[in-house]
Amino acid sequence: MSEIKPSLLDFTQKELMEKIKPAFRVKQIFGWLYHQYVQSYDEMKNIPKALKDELAKKYVVNPLRIVNKEESSDGTIKYLLQMQDGKTMEAVWLKMKETQLDSNGEVIQEAKYTICVSTQVGCKVGCSFCLTAKGGFTRDLTTAEIVAQVVTLKRDNDHKHNRKINIVYMGMGEPLDNLDNLAKAIEIFKEDEGLCISGKRQTVSTSGLSNKIDQLGKMDLGVHIAISLHAVDNDLRSELIPMNKAHNISSIIEAVKRFPIDTRKRVMFEYLVIKNKNDDIGSAKKLVKLLTGIKAKVNLIFFNPYPGTTYDRPTRADMVAFQEYLVKHGLLCTIRDSKGIDISAACGQLKEQGEFSSAKERDHLGGKTESELK
Ligand code: SAH
Ligand code: SF4
Repeated sequence: MSEIKPSLLDFTQKELMEKIKPAFRVKQIFGWLYHQYVQSYDEMKNIPKALKDELAKKYVVNPLRIVNKEESSDGTIKYLLQMQDGKTMEAVWLKMKETQLDSNGEVIQEAKYTICVSTQVGCKVGCSFCLTAKGGFTRDLTTAEIVAQVVTLKRDNDHKHNRKINIVYMGMGEPLDNLDNLAKAIEIFKEDEGLCISGKRQTVSTSGLSNKIDQLGKMDLGVHIAISLHAVDNDLRSELIPMNKAHNISSIIEAVKRFPIDTRKRVMFEYLVIKNKNDDIGSAKKLVKLLTGIKAKVNLIFFNPYPGTTYDRPTRADMVAFQEYLVKHGLLCTIRDSKGIDISAACGQLKEQGEFSSAKERDHLGGKTESELK
């Protein structure tokens, strides 16, 4: 294995200015990294060779390599990405349709893209319904490994730097358990001369580390939060998410109330619906009560079964009845359609199931990895 180095994607533009002189070179390099998505120093055409050689001794350009990808019939693409130490994780490219009005007032359908990003290899939280948890925890991702997921997927999809993109931190891992690296990645995404992805377009999903929700709020990064609530009483929530014992429902609700949000926006509550566990109208009733006074939006998620799980997917009728109850009682509520379900790319369903390199999957790359082909 070659030496593991930090990456140029680990640093804000200001930090790079402290490392690289003169400043205009940093601006050029920033353009190569975030507008051209270069993967090697060779591609940085207007940078002097001496500077590139110097930088190459200390930093890699992009620490990730695409080792496999699977495309779903709905346009969702799941990527398996390998890091410098050989470990792998996944990111997902999601295509959604957005209905908009054009300048003549005509209704047009525009494609809208979201990248689902991982923040750790594995996860410590250990939720009983989650496939990521089954593999235990390996390590936190570095800032560059978080940033590089977006750069790499935009490059692979030929998505220009100034086209809008949303980021959801809903891949592998608990984002708030890697808060420092996450916060720096959020800042780098926001850089005006980089990808320019505002906080409004970034959503941090958490299983509810209440003290870290406060810390994230104090950083005032302008991001949205999504709370993986999943249950309305502490007994069931602790069965599903063991760390609920330390961060119970009321501590989370209190932290959410303190969280700074854009006045036009809402806090998203994710509610994973599991058959005969939390899909009854009694739970819906308690949910309405719990969220009273919060500008909330509820996202109902079908439990997505996998081999070996004891939980079942709810029926659509129960799901719709649950949604109707919430809506009737004044809550905004959507049912998440299962994007990329045929390739198990539902967020939180990553890697373990598709752990790869099957001959069949490699075939479409001619037996080579994606980066070898580039
Ligand atoms: N750790 C963070 C973010 C990653 S998980 C969190 O828990 O919020 C992202 C989402 O995927 C969570 O809402 C999680 O509950 C959901 N998820 C996990 N396993 C799932 C499964 N088997 N079916 C459907 N959604 C699942
Ligand atoms: Fe970790 Fe989220 Fe999976 Fe729970 S649902 S184990 S917090 S990734």
